Amino acid sequence: MLAAAAAAGLGLADDADGDAVETDARPAAASREVRALARPTTTLAPTTTTTTAPPPPPTTTTTTAPPPPPPTTTTTAPPEPEVTVSAGGGIVCPVAGSVSFVDSWGAARSGGRTHKGTDMMAASGTPTVAPVSGTVEHRTSSLGGLSWYLHGDDGDTYYGTHLSSFANQGAGWVAAGTVIGHVGQSGNAGTPHLHFEHHPGGGSPVNPYPLVAAAC
Ligand SMILES: [Zn+2]
Repeated sequence: MLAAAAAAGLGLADDADGDAVETDARPAAASREVRALARPTTTLAPTTTTTTAPPPPPTTTTTTAPPPPPPTTTTTAPPEPEVTVSAGGGIVCPVAGSVSFVDSWGAARSGGRTHKGTDMMAASGTPTVAPVSGTVEHRTSSLGGLSWYLHGDDGDTYYGTHLSSFANQGAGWVAAGTVIGHVGQSGNAGTPHLHFEHHPGGGSPVNPYPLVAAAC
């Protein structure tokens, strides 16, 4: 019978782990703290010097609204007059710097030649410029040395030589005043100068002295 009861399978009763509410009621401590008697403290009255500064006078800031800006009058400056060099007009001095020259047109030169231009004396390296607007061409020859030809828009050809160096080589068209070379003594020049010629219409040279005398 017992065995049968065991076989019936009495399930193991899980121990209910209920939270035990422990009341930790502790008896009040009987010990009595005997407080030391408070020492009488002698409080010295602090001497407070109260300096009462008078309140600063209120500063009245008067904000005056700025006056409205005056109506802007747009003044358009007249356009700068363009330096146009027409045929028969003036030229830009071909030497941009200190220069001196005389009228030496027709003066005797080596090999029975006569002088066909104006020798413009200037320090080596002084810029030489296009006397008028036009197409610039640079050449080198044994006699003239380094030269420029300026085929002007005015139809005339201007020639400068004995340069020490070119400037704006291959530039094609240049405005009047454009640096196209520098004064030197290449070729048959004895001293640094720009030999300058003027060929009206690209033809035979004429005395350029009046032109440069007026321009330089
Ligand atoms: Zn010359």
